[in-house]
Amino acid sequence: MSNIEIYWQKITDLLKQEMNEITFDTFISPIIPVKYTDSLFVGSINMSVVAYKDIIKKKYSDKINKALTEVFSRPMSFVFDDEISDTKTKEEPVESIASVQRENGLITNYLFNNYIVGSSNNIAYAAAVAVADNPGEDDMYNPLFLYGGVGLGKTHLMHAIGNHVTACNPDAKVLYVSCEKFTTELVEAIRDKKTIEFKERYRQLDLLLIDDVQFLSGKEAAQEEFFHTFNALFDAKKQIVMCSDRKPSEIQTLTDRLISRMSKGLIFDIKAPDFETRTAILAKKAESKNIKIPNEILQYIAYTITSNIREMEGALNKIVIYAKFNNRVIDMELAEEVMKDVIKDNKANITVSYIQETVADFYKVSVEELLSKRRTKPLTTYRHIAMYLCRKLLEDSLEEIGEKFGGRDHSTVMNGCDKVCKLMESNDERVAEIKSIEKRIVGN
Ligand code: ADP
Ligand code: MG
Repeated sequence: MSNIEIYWQKITDLLKQEMNEITFDTFISPIIPVKYTDSLFVGSINMSVVAYKDIIKKKYSDKINKALTEVFSRPMSFVFDDEISDTKTKEEPVESIASVQRENGLITNYLFNNYIVGSSNNIAYAAAVAVADNPGEDDMYNPLFLYGGVGLGKTHLMHAIGNHVTACNPDAKVLYVSCEKFTTELVEAIRDKKTIEFKERYRQLDLLLIDDVQFLSGKEAAQEEFFHTFNALFDAKKQIVMCSDRKPSEIQTLTDRLISRMSKGLIFDIKAPDFETRTAILAKKAESKNIKIPNEILQYIAYTITSNIREMEGALNKIVIYAKFNNRVIDMELAEEVMKDVIKDNKANITVSYIQETVADFYKVSVEELLSKRRTKPLTTYRHIAMYLCRKLLEDSLEEIGEKFGGRDHSTVMNGCDKVCKLMESNDERVAEIKSIEKRIVGN
């Protein structure tokens, strides 16, 4: 199979899980993958069902784009071949600079030299470089544990470490694996009675990069196996790098011995980047995709989307694609039109549980705690703040909100909201916190 066919296979596998069989057979099966660029995946459609095109575009493009973005690990959009004029795709480099995921799991274009360093990530970056230069040699940096919110560049840094090590030493055995993949492989190994092979595969590595380890939460067998793999690698002076959306001590149900193992080396966090860094990241992305775009538009995107770099990149791509489709130059007017949609989309994604997660994350408590019956301070205050923000940002009724806060009744929600309003009259610090949480939720 060619590269594009392999990708399309993965994409359709994901889509199969997302839709029922009839829908899949009707609307996805007739699509023929044609080519892909850095941000676009071009397909054509079997002539006999050419009339389905509009339906596919209207009803399924979100799903297809989501699958594309997952498979390519970068924002991608699906287009039909006749929607995009030939001269336009020719301008964009096809395949050659598109990132490729290697056998060892490494994505080739996540590198140190296209990682923008600012005050939000400089320490994590420095640690990553130090580890990549001398993997496993310094106990102090083993393991390296990086944590931070979604879309802030943790995965990028991990791949950069792996790519650097491979570039310096092509014989080094490097593996990048998501925690979920690690867990699935383990389950399969146990089922197929191949645990010895599984263990060996991991234990012969020089560098293990394991992403999103918060997913070890609640998976006892995986924790156990990971603990042993970890010890074996550590004792052999092999490097381990882990990422998570929170500190080891905040991952629920992680055994104490695993927490202490994970905390043995260095733990650094990556914070949300400031405006300058966000603009610089966008400029770098635009440059790497050969997109010419005025700086004021990059600043406008960076100003509008503050919390998540992946979303910022998505917005940039949308602007570029929109300009292409409509044969327009990228100017402020066009950017504003597109960003209106982006902001609207973000709003549509706000739900009670999203608000709960954001509040919990901000105050470093778990969602379970936030919803629990515990009435200790400051937990109750955080709970009230979450209720207040639901009330403010959503159309849900008090009853509905109460229901989603562990089955509380509407008067509890109302009381909570009142308390927050009072609190805000007297406590400037809380006002600032609430504003900052709201910003994170709304994304502008
Ligand atoms: P995380 O793993 O923290 O959720 P990712 O590493 O997947 O985030 O980053 C999301 C996107 O943002 C990627 O495309 C990545 O290249 C980009 N990105 C994040 N931080 C930076 C940075 N400092 N410089 C350049 N690109 C970045
Ligand atoms: Mg990640």
